[in-house]
Amino acid sequence: MSEESENCPKCGAPLSEVAETATGRKLRRCSQGSWNPQTHKTEGCDFVLWLQVEPKELDEKCPKCGAPLILQVTRFGKKMKKCSAGGWDSEVKKPTGCDYVEWINGTREALDEKCPQCGADLILFTTAGGKRAKKCSTAGWDKVARQATGCTYIQWLKAG
Ligand SMILES: [Zn+2]
Ligand SMILES: [Zn+2]
Ligand SMILES: [Zn+2]
Repeated sequence: MSEESENCPKCGAPLSEVAETATGRKLRRCSQGSWNPQTHKTEGCDFVLWLQVEPKELDEKCPKCGAPLILQVTRFGKKMKKCSAGGWDSEVKKPTGCDYVEWINGTREALDEKCPQCGADLILFTTAGGKRAKKCSTAGWDKVARQATGCTYIQWLKAG
């Protein structure tokens, strides 16, 4: 990690090292400030510098335009694959360039179990938030019609 000697624009004290939140966002607090969990207030200087989580270039190409895809984490910790040819015009608040985005909805694993509704294989589905469910492998999502397709069987698993 590079030690950038940046100073707080509010009080001039050096910024502390990069910290990461539970959702994967990165920030640097002013070294003169600290979060008090008892009072739910920042004590001292309250300056926080949010860092942009650097997009990671993937070894995959955009199905729309062929540019490389990048992996991005949103402010809320959701992950998505985005076309590197796409951008965001903050003046008109509209996306520019290629608009291809694919949300990463977690992982799926094949199970050695059959769907009680249709007899197809079940898969173990883990959401981006860590919830797990057994789902029918024929279930899908029609992006054009914006509706679920295939078998609707789902069984959510309790954590732990
Ligand atoms: Zn400060
Ligand atoms: Zn593209
Ligand atoms: Zn099924």
